[in-house]
Formats: sequence, C-alpha cells, structure tokens
Amino acid sequence: MPKAAILTIGTELLLGKVVDTNGAYLGERLSSTGFDVALRVSVGDHHGEIRHWVEALLRDVDLIVTTGGLGPTKDDLTRQEVADAVGVPLVFREDLLKEIEAIFAARGFRMTENNRRQAYLPEGARAISNPVGTAPAFFFRTAGGKGIVCLPGVPRELKYLMEREVLPLLREAFGLAGRVKRTRVLKVCGLGESGVDQQIGDLMKTEGNPFVGVLASPGMIRILITAEGDSEDQVAEMIGGVEGEIRRRLGSLIFGTDDETLEGVVLSGLSGRVRELFIDDTATAGEVAGRLMKAHGGAYRSRGCLAFGDGSCDGNGAGALRLQVRPLPGEEKGGLRAFSIVIRRDGEAKEVKFHLGGPRGQVETRLSVIAVDQVRKWLEKRKG
Ligand code: ATP
Ligand code: MG
Repeated sequence: MPKAAILTIGTELLLGKVVDTNGAYLGERLSSTGFDVALRVSVGDHHGEIRHWVEALLRDVDLIVTTGGLGPTKDDLTRQEVADAVGVPLVFREDLLKEIEAIFAARGFRMTENNRRQAYLPEGARAISNPVGTAPAFFFRTAGGKGIVCLPGVPRELKYLMEREVLPLLREAFGLAGRVKRTRVLKVCGLGESGVDQQIGDLMKTEGNPFVGVLASPGMIRILITAEGDSEDQVAEMIGGVEGEIRRRLGSLIFGTDDETLEGVVLSGLSGRVRELFIDDTATAGEVAGRLMKAHGGAYRSRGCLAFGDGSCDGNGAGALRLQVRPLPGEEKGGLRAFSIVIRRDGEAKEVKFHLGGPRGQVETRLSVIAVDQVRKWLEKRKG
C-alpha cells in the first residue's frame, strides 16, 4: 500500500483559530482510496517551514498532500516552498494566467496584479484547474516517482478538486484503480471501552488487513472493521468473517451497524408494538426524550410522550409504555451517582439501577443513551 502524509498549512491552524477539518477529510478520502496514511503535520505560513517538511516527508512517504497557502498574498508560500524542496524553479504559465483572468471576468471582477502569483508553478508540475476558486492546484511527480499534490485551503474548493480531479489522478498514478477499501461499523451499547477490549481485544489490530479499531463516545462504542481487496465481494467476505466472530462474542450488545442509530432502532421496534411511549425523566434534563423526539416522525408532546400510529400521547391509555429515569439520592457508591431506570407496561415493571461517575453533563448523556438502550433490550425480549 503506498504511504501518504498530509501537510496542512496555515498559522491559523496552529493558533487554534481554525480547526483542521481538511486534514480529517483528506485522511478519510486517502485511506479509503487505498493509501496508508502515515502522518499528518500542520505548519505555519513561515519561510522555510513548508520546504523543511516537504523534504522530510518525501524521505518517508510516497505521496504528500498539502492544503492552504495557494492564495495570491505574500503569506501564501506553498508554490515557492515546494519548488525549493524538490529543487526546481517556479515557472510562469501563460495558460494559467488566462484561466485565472477568465474566472475573474466571469464574476465581473478585474484581476489584480498579485493574482499573477497564482500563475506560477514548480517546473514540471501538472496544473489542476480550480473553477470554484482562483488558485490552481497542482501535482508534482519527483524523479523517484513520489507525488506531491498541493490544494487550496478553502474546504469547499479542496473537496471539489479532490473528488473530481485528484482522486482519479492518484488512483491512476499509484496503480490503485480497481482496489476497494470498505469499513463496517458495529455499534455497541451497554459495554465500556475496557469491556469491549476484554471481549474482542485479541481481534483488535491497528494494522493489517482487515483491521479492527474501536471508537468510544458517551454511552456507546463503535467497532470499525476495515478491509481492502480487489473486489467488493472479496472485501465483503473479509469483513464478514471478522464481523461474524465479533457478533458471536457480543451478541445483542450490538444494536446496529453503519448509519443505524440507537434511537432509530428503538423507534422502529416500538412502532406497531406499543401505542405510545411516555417518558418521565428527572435525571437527564430532557436528553432521553430529546434523543427519541429528534428521531421520531410522529406526534410528541414535550413533557415526554411519543405516539405511535394515532396514539393519544397522554401516557394513560392501555398499551402505553412508560419509561421512568430518575436519580437515587442516598444510594451513591464510591463517588458514583445512582440512577434508576424503570420500564412499565400493563402493571408489569422492570427496574435497573446504574452507578455512573464523571463530570456533570457527560453523566446525563451516558444515562440517556443507557435509558434508550433499556427500551431496546425490553423490545429484544419481546421479539418474534
Ligand atoms: P485562498 O486562495 O482562498 O487564499 P489558500 O489556498 O491560500 O486559498 P488559505 O488562505 O490557507 O488557503 O485558507 C483559506 C481559508 O480556508 C482559511 O481562512 C480557513 O478558514 C480555511 N482553511 C484553511 N486550511 C484549513 C484546514 N486545514 N481545515 C479547515 N479549514 C481550513
Ligand atoms: Mg490564502
């Protein structure tokens, strides 16, 4: 697998004024195209800095993708620094100047003199026209076959050029056409990160093919299985093998896959099975109801009742499911707060108690996920 590095350029990134979303986007797109993204570096708009990192990264990786610093102003240094790093001069390109002038003309502006800077590229570079901005991007291939792609910093322009021009070009240049890389996401509730590690730690690999990783968010874990191969079928089979083993071990702790959400799964389970869900929540500042209501297409009342079909939504009718979430003051344990989740229907009640610790806000969010998951568990038991 060819190795890639991402170099994001802009002093604002280092000062925390702009979050490096370009880096995240490029990481996802390059890795799903078949590159092994080895590292990501952010540098400021300083002379020598971009050059230094391009030289250093070229020793280690096959491809560098940079963003930012292609604008017309003095602090836009990328063109010059990349040319210096690969040891070629910047050359003026009449064809690019015409293109830039045409873009300005089409918008009814006159091009200013400093935009001429954007018509210079490192000698031998292939220009990538930028109809959504002005600065042309470019692709440079070194004598040793390594690649450098320089893209604008504006996220909209970057994405446009990546999808249309750069990815096809890179697939071709690095022989990746026909390679397929897919990620399957398994979503787990009711088990923390260390619990997941105990159960499937031996399957977790940070590299290899397929590889398995874990992402934690409050109350929920996502397990990512990524595989790469020559065809969709081959990749599906590789992923299927690992997924089967994980499912054998975690069973119904897995509530969904890929884009499925816990709320979506619970709502479709409730629909047709209960007439209304009444939520009585004094513990999560409305988060339990909020989660479900945001995902619910039907009627609701903000005190916490969701109607399915033409339910009345007052929590009193026969067939109503009642979900109660409340704190248990007096039952704290070792600094952990205590909570009770009760699910009631037709005189039958099931209570589960949880002890949770951590900052306020986070505890409520975790508890709200757990409460929705309790409804899912209730539904699981009554399946079929
Ligand atoms: P322009 O031709 O518009 O000047 P440029 O290639 O010079 O483009 P920059 O000036 O470096 O790009 O950045 C333009 C804007 O794009 C910045 O103000 C910032 O908001 C956004 N941007 C730059 N880099 C990133 C990044 N890594 N992640 C997210 N946004 C970014
Ligand atoms: Mg700029």
